[in-house]
Amino acid sequence: MHERSLVQTLLKQVQQIVADDGGGRVKEIQVQVGDLSGVEPLLFEAAFAELAANVFSEECGLLLEVVPVKAECSLCGQRFEVQNYEFLCPVCGRGPVDVTQGDQVKLMSITVDSEDMVEGVKS
Ligand SMILES: [Zn+2]
Repeated sequence: MHERSLVQTLLKQVQQIVADDGGGRVKEIQVQVGDLSGVEPLLFEAAFAELAANVFSEECGLLLEVVPVKAECSLCGQRFEVQNYEFLCPVCGRGPVDVTQGDQVKLMSITVDSEDMVEGVKS
């Protein structure tokens, strides 16, 4: 259920961006999913396949990249990759740390079939 609503939000975002950009056929969407976002990539892909079919007339590809969790120590400023959900600074051994990457779903890029964008334009 979580993945479905995320995909719905994502598709709306994509439609908005493409419409603002003059339209076109969306061929592929690249998405980054953080390890900490709670998103199950397989469920996300399944929800995308189902929902994208309702939104786009042609098949649209999904490039899903799972990114590791990164954080920054708020005490000493050390940046590090979080392993095994251990949110402690490896340098000073304390915290708190701020998660800088890996806790969200991020739209990275949209590939639009540019040939479709000139359709209907008479020169
Ligand atoms: Zn530290």
